[in-house]
Amino acid sequence: MRVTWTTEGDAMRLDFRLDAEDSITGFCADGQPLKMATNSCRVELPRVPREVHPDLRALAAWTVVAPWTRRTVTFDGPISPGLAAALAEGWGVEAGPVGGTPRSGDRLAVSYSGGADSVAVAAMLPDAPFVHFQRVSHPRVPNRWTHYRADVLARLAEKTGRELTVVRSDLEFTLAEPRPGYPEHHAVAAGALLLADELDLGGLAFGYELGSRWLGGDRYLLRYTPDNPMWAPHGAWGRAFAAAGVHIVLPVGGVSEAVTMRLALNSSLREQVRWCLRGVDGPCGTCGKCLYKELIQAAVERRPLRTAVGPKRPVARKWQEPPPYGGQEMIEYGCARVPGVEGTVFGRAAGFLGATEASTAWLDRCYPPAVEEIPEPWRKQVHDFMAAEVGFMSRDEARRVESWGTAQGSR
Ligand SMILES: [Zn+2]
Repeated sequence: MRVTWTTEGDAMRLDFRLDAEDSITGFCADGQPLKMATNSCRVELPRVPREVHPDLRALAAWTVVAPWTRRTVTFDGPISPGLAAALAEGWGVEAGPVGGTPRSGDRLAVSYSGGADSVAVAAMLPDAPFVHFQRVSHPRVPNRWTHYRADVLARLAEKTGRELTVVRSDLEFTLAEPRPGYPEHHAVAAGALLLADELDLGGLAFGYELGSRWLGGDRYLLRYTPDNPMWAPHGAWGRAFAAAGVHIVLPVGGVSEAVTMRLALNSSLREQVRWCLRGVDGPCGTCGKCLYKELIQAAVERRPLRTAVGPKRPVARKWQEPPPYGGQEMIEYGCARVPGVEGTVFGRAAGFLGATEASTAWLDRCYPPAVEEIPEPWRKQVHDFMAAEVGFMSRDEARRVESWGTAQGSR
């Protein structure tokens, strides 16, 4: 794989060329097969920095091309030996040219999507600037996803009043299958990486919560994942980001989506929270994401489910089948708390799961190892917030995390 960044006005354009052994079908770090649609993309920045450290250019490119790279990657400037080592150890690729010096920075920014998880992060870090990724169309790829209202999300981000950088990019259209999206989850950070020297970034905070970090997320059902390759500090991506002087920071990595929902709804950014990618004047209320988040919000607010979605709708079909489910811990949490859940689209799931308030109480507190893995400069702030606003899991509750997916953990 050979990658080149060129400046085009206020944008940086990435071109990548496959080597003979590379393939247009590859795998994301979470195992998802990905097919490439096209070999270039652009990242529009509010201002193009005069110089971007070669490690930042290289890592930003790597978030796009990693799935399709087999043995070697050649960047357009000399990377530091530390980044080359991280790519060799994490992916088994030979990366070069090598010869640059490492970089570092001091500030922590929030990779801000506007969803409940990232609003919770924003509430914990009131002084941190936001970097928001906005999807735009690609000149060579037809956009069949016009219902995806990235413009609405960007406007909501502007209404937060926080220091904000909006990065507009078509990089999701480098992906043909399964659908346009980030080639690696970390591609959302491509713009933040290119601006990291300008913003003096030493860390980037993401809204990945307990389920994504420790319970396998959507893709690894029911599995305790301390060595998560995407988000563990000692995982391949964690080491690559650290080598480029931008540490991955997961301020809400120890708490469930029930806690992030509560923090978001109680925060001053409540009016700007939006997890739905479809609605214009508000969430659409009918997509799968809206249905899932409504269950969590209803549980947090201790009220009946408000939805027009019936059990025969495609988005509700999986809840009519037996578990396991992606995000099952939150389905258990919701089913245990929403009044009258038996009569809703989650009624059958509630019956299968048999969860109770007691069996899901651990999801109201913070898993202590998630705070211990926060890089030192920001650990105390996160720890103190969790101690004051959430509270920590007991040893027995922490064992629920660590036995998730085993017979003991699922009941
Ligand atoms: Zn929706």
